[in-house]
Parts: sequence; C-alpha cells; structure tokens
Amino acid sequence: MQPSADSLQIGNYIGALMQWRGMQDDYDAFFTVVDLHAITVAQDPAQLREKTRRTAAQYIAAGIDSSKSTLYVQSQVPAHAELAWILSTITGFGEAGRMTQFKDKSQRYGADQASVGLFTYPILMAADILLYQAEAVPVGDDQKQHVELTRNLAERFNSRFGETFTVPKPVIQGETARIYDLQDPTSKMSKSAESQAGVLYLLDDVNVTAKKIMRAVTDSEGSVRYDRADKPGVANLMTIYSALTGRTLDEIEDEFAGRGYGDFKKAVRDAVVGEFEPVRARALELLEDPAELDRVLAGNADRAAQAAEETLSAVYERVGLLRRG
Ligand code: AMP
Repeated sequence: MQPSADSLQIGNYIGALMQWRGMQDDYDAFFTVVDLHAITVAQDPAQLREKTRRTAAQYIAAGIDSSKSTLYVQSQVPAHAELAWILSTITGFGEAGRMTQFKDKSQRYGADQASVGLFTYPILMAADILLYQAEAVPVGDDQKQHVELTRNLAERFNSRFGETFTVPKPVIQGETARIYDLQDPTSKMSKSAESQAGVLYLLDDVNVTAKKIMRAVTDSEGSVRYDRADKPGVANLMTIYSALTGRTLDEIEDEFAGRGYGDFKKAVRDAVVGEFEPVRARALELLEDPAELDRVLAGNADRAAQAAEETLSAVYERVGLLRRG
C-alpha cells in the first residue's frame, strides 16, 4: 500500500488489511509500504515520512504480525530499485505504454507533469513481487494488468537467462470486499473523494465515524435487502456489516426484517466503532514512540533484504554483471 494518507479508510481496511491479516497463517507473507512508488507523484518530504510511519502503524494495529509476516518500508530494501532497473531493460517501451493505470494517471496530471517514474511504476511493482519469489499476489481488479506484466517479465527473464523467478498468480479480491462511499454509494470509497462525509477513516475520532454512518445515504423503501443496483446505499452498509461481523447477507436480511434503517444503521455503527476503536488506540500508541516503531521496521527490513539479496544476486550472475571480487 502507498503511504499516501494520514489515515487508511474502511475500504483499505476491509478490502486489503482484513484479507491480508487472514492470509498470514497460510502464507509466508511480505507486506510493504511502497514509498518509492509514492514519489512517482510529488510528495512533501516531511509528510511522506510521517505518512509512511502512520501507514505501517495501522498495518500493525490491524493485526499484521511481524512474528508471522515481514512488514517493511520499500526504500529500506535497496534491492527493489536495483531489480527494477534490470527488469526495465527487458520491458518493451510499447508494452509499458499499454498499462491503463499510467494512461489514466497521466491524463489526470497532464502529459508534461507525468514523470518517467510514473511510467515505469509497474516495473518497480514487478520487482517488489519477483524479489521474494512470490507465488500469490493479493490485489484488486485494477492491478490485474500489472500482475500480468510481472508474469510476462518473469517468464521472459527465465527463458532468456535460465530459471530464476517464480511466476506469480494474482489472487483477485471479490466484489464483496469492495466498499463504496457512504454519500455516493455508486463510487468506490476513496480518500480523494470530493466530500469527506462519506469516507470512514480508521484514525478518526469514533464520534465522527458514528455520525457519518448515521447520515449514510439509503433509499425510501425502508427494508434491509441486498440489491446493489437499486439499493446501493443499503447494500454497501450490508457489505460493511457482513465483513465486520462475519454474518452472511441472508442472515442480515433476517436480522433486520420488519425493522427500519435507524435500527440497522445503529448496528452498523456499533460494529464499525467496535472494530475501529482498539485498532485506532493501538495505532496512536505506536505513533507516540516513533523510535520503537522505526526499530521494528528496521528489523523487518533486514529480514526482507536477506530474502531479496538472494534473488538479486542470482539475477546479477545470470545477466553477466561482473561481481565485486
Ligand atoms: P489504494 O490506497 O487505493 O491504492 O488502496 C490500497 C489497497 O486498499 C488496495 O489493495 C485496494 O484494492 C484497497 N482498497 C482501496 N479502496 C478500497 C475500497 N473502497 N474498497 C475495497 N478495497 C479498497
């Protein structure tokens, strides 16, 4: 995840962190705060550092456990940038030019504002993945094309230089993990939304969160029923409630049969506040002692670097770079 916000929103929490937390027992997982990716668009240096710590603190507070997984800051493992260079030399210019995310972003910022780093962003992402011989990459739909590029680069390198990289598979998160804006429930929830009234932040005061939920847009039908097309507001609240309580959509419909939206919203509010309160408290506690947080991250970066170096040195060898004697 990019360190692009002071606080994660509930979409990041349900769509990413909760899924990742659940994968930790089954996978030897690597989680990274991608600060090198963040600087592909202009960042304020002091804020970037602060957001990097905040993002890491929220991962830990949400249950990413560094005794099970490796949680580190991308720029603290130089092998990411080094492998990205090597991979850029086997990536076609046209191939990189077909990445739709670059096209979208460069349109948004204007062609003159878009940096070469923004263009080569997916190659750095390929390095993030291939360095750790990853078998699976949990991503949203929008990242599928980048994982496809990663697979192509791995296969190309392997066939040109000999078996070196594991070819990874994307693990695509389903629609049920997608959260929409509470005020505009047909748009994906995002911190860059024009109005903040429909965005629930993990680090917000819980009273603010509670109010936003009670004011969420619903409809005039008055029944708690899952219908994404005709009742997007209610469907979205049901998705949130289901993700946090483990109840199925059918069970939720039964629970609130014959009851109004007021009751339902109170239940959603209690579930969200109950989930966020301890995570927020833990994250703020971690941020009160940045030296200790930095120490934890450094230890994890050492572990990541060890795994990364193994791959990188095989790559340098295969490519024919003369190693220092
Ligand atoms: P971003 O900060 O938008 O790059 O998102 C970081 C992670 O959170 C990615 O894995 C996204 O798929 C996930 N994410 C962001 N917004 C949402 C949302 N509204 N619903 C579900 N997942 C989301």
